[in-house]
Amino acid sequence: MARIYAARVFFFVASSCAHSSGGVLPNSAPALSYEVSINDALSRIDVHMCTGAGRCSDYQVNTLERTGSLERDPMMLGHTLLIPTERFLRAPRTPFPFPYRVRFGLPANVAVSVPWPEDDDGYRVEDHDFRFNGFAVFGRFDRMELEVGTTTLDVVLPEDAARMDHDLIRAWLTSAADVAGKLTGFFPVAHAQIIVVQVPSSESPVPFGMAYRGGGASVILLVAANANIEELRTDWVAIHELTHLSLPFIRERDAWFSEGYATYFQEALLMHAGLRSEADVRAALAASFERARNAGTGRTLADETRARHTTRAYRRIYWAGAAIMMLADIGYHAAPNACGSLREAVHRAGFTRQDMSRVFAADEIIARLDAACGVPVLAQLRDRWLGSAEFPDVDATNPAALH
Ligand SMILES: [Zn+2]
Repeated sequence: MARIYAARVFFFVASSCAHSSGGVLPNSAPALSYEVSINDALSRIDVHMCTGAGRCSDYQVNTLERTGSLERDPMMLGHTLLIPTERFLRAPRTPFPFPYRVRFGLPANVAVSVPWPEDDDGYRVEDHDFRFNGFAVFGRFDRMELEVGTTTLDVVLPEDAARMDHDLIRAWLTSAADVAGKLTGFFPVAHAQIIVVQVPSSESPVPFGMAYRGGGASVILLVAANANIEELRTDWVAIHELTHLSLPFIRERDAWFSEGYATYFQEALLMHAGLRSEADVRAALAASFERARNAGTGRTLADETRARHTTRAYRRIYWAGAAIMMLADIGYHAAPNACGSLREAVHRAGFTRQDMSRVFAADEIIARLDAACGVPVLAQLRDRWLGSAEFPDVDATNPAALH
């Protein structure tokens, strides 16, 4: 589900992170394990699925089969296969207690990277990993482990990206994770798999990005071959995707909220990190609000969000959402004894790993943030603007924002 405007393509966050423990069935029920193997050509995955009671079944996945869905289809990059985990990890017909175990049997020249946590017994898969998708990488690729605060980024560099300057990739991703961490003071997940794919030279240093959350977090970033560190450090795509991870997964029909949130903070966080001046960020926000003011199809924001797959009015949805976030920032700052900022509201709301394992409605997030600040700022903004065809009345120069 690509979102295209201003020559950029990006994606909704399509799944969630966090590793909750325990299943829903009694412990006496047999556990489930998957033995996954792949052929040399990476064209076929064989799965041997067994219960603890010794009942087994087999199935095969043709990795060359395409459905036409950008979100669901595997990608082959030379001798590297990127494949959504849901393509080969089929849920059993009858549920078994979690965690399930996944082990890989791989040819000598094939490595694997998956977003799930690993221990002596294989990879550990939880119930929400079946609700939310993640990405697996098979084949030949370079790997880097980056420590950013308390977070480990497992960076996967397939094909051309493996030949890029690793110091450049390291500096860029460390910076992006550091910037995303400015939202609440820490990076939102303990572990993230970042897949970097090199694309031909382009004006945009990072022309594509997408984030998944099954098993932790997988973010795929497409980086231009000619990108330099100055451009990468101040580019918004990686920050946008990583910012999504600071909230639980919000259902897609409420995309105005989740995308507005990531879109506002992709700009604001660069200022908080000292990578762009306040004047520059305010000017960029004002220009984007202005461009979005007359974009769209004249529907209300709620209807525009519902119709987005046909109207493709993404600019209007994302930036109207961002305008509402800026108004919330202003509202929390202006209300006596409130949080002082939207960032602080997110921090105080304290979303837990448990929260990250389920789907939220925007209304629930709004209630959590308002409750954390003791004022119904976001609820009032939603009531005022969601049913309106007008662009939210925001002034990017308001000094009460961006705290
Ligand atoms: Zn987004």
